[in-house]
Amino acid sequence: MTRIAIVGAGLAGLTLARTLAGRAEVRVFDKARGFGGRMATRRAGPFQFDHGAQFFTVRSDDFQAFLAPFVDRGAVARWDAEFVEFDGPHIGHRRCWADGPPHYVGVPAMNALPKALAEGLDVRLETRVGAVAHANGFWQLHADDDNELGAWDWLVLALPAPQAHELLPDTRSLAPEPPMTACFSLLLGFDEALAVDWQAAFVAGADISWISLDHSKPGRSAAVSVVVHSTNRFADAHLGDERERVVAHLAGELERVAGIDAARAVHVDLHRWRYANVGRQTGGKSFIDAGRRVAAIGDWFIQGRVESAFASARDLARTLESLL
Ligand SMILES: Cc1cc2nc3c(=O)[nH]c(=O)nc-3n(C[C@H](O)[C@H](O)[C@H](O)COP(=O)(O)OP(=O)(O)OC[C@H]3O[C@@H](n4cnc5c(N)ncnc54)[C@H](O)[C@@H]3O)c2cc1C
Repeated sequence: MTRIAIVGAGLAGLTLARTLAGRAEVRVFDKARGFGGRMATRRAGPFQFDHGAQFFTVRSDDFQAFLAPFVDRGAVARWDAEFVEFDGPHIGHRRCWADGPPHYVGVPAMNALPKALAEGLDVRLETRVGAVAHANGFWQLHADDDNELGAWDWLVLALPAPQAHELLPDTRSLAPEPPMTACFSLLLGFDEALAVDWQAAFVAGADISWISLDHSKPGRSAAVSVVVHSTNRFADAHLGDERERVVAHLAGELERVAGIDAARAVHVDLHRWRYANVGRQTGGKSFIDAGRRVAAIGDWFIQGRVESAFASARDLARTLESLL
């Protein structure tokens, strides 16, 4: 059987591994302790935060059909949030997501979908691939600690563009690197209810872009867990700032916009996403060099969305299947 190494166990890498399972010998490597990359969840005592992707929508029949078994078994469900749009401190628009197309989340946490996808697959977590080399028709992978990670017929990079190009710089000319923007996630846990009548909010006219009451998502505990995202513009400009300064600024914006006093939080954390998002791209959906047997996938080929990561992986899978 053809041996394929996939670097990255985010939605793109896991979708590809699952699609090719049984048709090739596939192993997935990820530097993180858990599955899912930016479909991430952090727990702290009673609090639980989806600090990366907040929800995802489904536009294609392929993604809908792929998700159906996970919806049936309860790993994915609709989040019928009371949703508002802030313009500065004013609510301009309000609707309930129950009245419209589904906004899906993982249950009991966003990373439930990648976890379920990884079942039965050969995934090596806590393994950062530090170097790759093509020699005698095989891809040799090396871990950061110089440990050998085997010789593979195919190498697939399922990483954000800058990390893919860092590992294999010569793919840059074939799959040009779109600018990826950063994001801060401010995570707040409260031991009291919040006096707001909504559960999810887009924000304009501020340095924060999103607020969610994560405990309102299906299957969560009642502990009041709030996720606040900065704008990409603010994060790009302040990525190197001291943590305390960033927390204070985002907390100030939260209070100004939504009247939520972060000083009352009993748990405060900040996550810095270096490569969070990418705007809409107009090129292909994945990259493949069949001669050297190397490929790349990820949301960045299409747009910074969960469904884009899926679509990129399926696009490559169709080409690879014809080559196996
Ligand atoms: C703050 C934030 C909010 C978002 N909100 C939404 C939203 O509401 N809706 C939506 O649809 N999308 C949202 N997104 C985007 C969505 O999360 C991504 O589009 C999607 O998860 C990307 O999947 P991926 O597999 O392409 O990449 P990733 O999930 O980034 O997976 C890449 C994986 O590669 C691993 N890796 C990196 N380098 C190495 C290495 N050298 N060796 C081994 N492993 C490595 C990483 O650990 C990671 O697990 C959001 C993202 C962020 C950050």
